[in-house]
Amino acid sequence: MRRISSREVVELVKRLSIEANLYAPIDLEESLRGAEALEASPYGLAVLQDLLENIKLAQDEKMPLCQDCGMAVVFVDWGQEAVLVDSSLQESIDEGVSRAYVEGYLRKSVVNDPLYDRKNTGDNTPAIVHLRLVQGSEVEITVVPKGMGSENASALAMLSPADGEEGVVNFVTSVIAQKGQNACPPLIIGVGIGGNFESAPLLAKRSLLRPIGSRNEDPRYERLEERLLGEVNGLGLGPGGYGGKITALDVHVEYMPTHIAGLPVAVNVSCNALRHAVGRL
Ligand code: SF4
Repeated sequence: MRRISSREVVELVKRLSIEANLYAPIDLEESLRGAEALEASPYGLAVLQDLLENIKLAQDEKMPLCQDCGMAVVFVDWGQEAVLVDSSLQESIDEGVSRAYVEGYLRKSVVNDPLYDRKNTGDNTPAIVHLRLVQGSEVEITVVPKGMGSENASALAMLSPADGEEGVVNFVTSVIAQKGQNACPPLIIGVGIGGNFESAPLLAKRSLLRPIGSRNEDPRYERLEERLLGEVNGLGLGPGGYGGKITALDVHVEYMPTHIAGLPVAVNVSCNALRHAVGRL
């Protein structure tokens, strides 16, 4: 059995948390450049140019891409032939996040109690951890600093199986029509279909980690992704919500088996600052 020390997890999570906040993924930058070539609206075009300049400034000046450095969502694929020693996984991840946000001067946005106290925890912890046990002895950690502007635009619907593809398309487009302009477009939209009440949103969130421009391997879901992208961009919200062709850079759909009586559909919206960084132990 391989032994992995808590210290290794802390160091990796700290590094990934800082990297994710400072450096935009290549596919995001390329997608914004592609959108720049397509956008006809002058205001929309100006927003895209500002976003590209912001990416360069953040990289050059080592500043966060956005003032909202998000809640730390951490996906862990843990090889079941490895054992963590010295501390628990949650404690190790929280220490890594804490050190990144305090020592890296990232904005701390987490409050201890959602309804009454709402007192800032001071170090952006606790992180939200999603753990999968996988084969082998390697560990893969992905840190996603997720801003709340786009989380607030996300939604879940427990549709009826009879609603079918039309029901899914109507739900997704109505969510974006109502809330998309407040989520800092251009958006990347994750859609999770199937499972149950808690698994559909997680599918949607995981789908945001796919490279922008990638397509579902199932041709039916690939067509659905293309259709949803067309419908959402047809809403005309545009970059920054100022009007234009590019409301979303992409729509990713993931699916899983569900119950005979249900059709859960979750929409997890990401703003233009789709930040994530991956590392391995
Ligand atoms: S929604 Fe995204 S771009 Fe807008 S403030 Fe939040 S993190 Fe920043």
